Amino acid sequence: MVLISVETDELKPSFTCGICYNIIDHATTLTGCLHTFCWRCIHGNITEHAWKCCPVCYADLGPTPLRTLKHNEFMEKLRRAFFPSSLDVIVVDSDSESSVSPSDEDVSDGDNSAA
Ligand SMILES: [Zn+2]
Ligand SMILES: [Zn+2]
Repeated sequence: MVLISVETDELKPSFTCGICYNIIDHATTLTGCLHTFCWRCIHGNITEHAWKCCPVCYADLGPTPLRTLKHNEFMEKLRRAFFPSSLDVIVVDSDSESSVSPSDEDVSDGDNSAA
């Protein structure tokens, strides 16, 4: 497994739902303006509250708003990588990584191998 070191705080705005302001869950993009929300947030508001425009940029969603929703698999994968939720925690087998030795550790103190 490759761990990518990034400042997730900088990425957070890109993965924040403009409706619930949490990390996006089941990323769903409006094909008209490409804004992305949680599936349940955008789908729920369109079906229950008859939203007809994007809540961020107010782009018109047209006569069939639900058809402008597209599951954003790429975004969802990135989100899971950077912001794993409790539902899809990436299991790191830490026990098997015990052989990793820190290279910058000062271990020479008291070492008798110096010649
Ligand atoms: Zn949301
Ligand atoms: Zn928008």
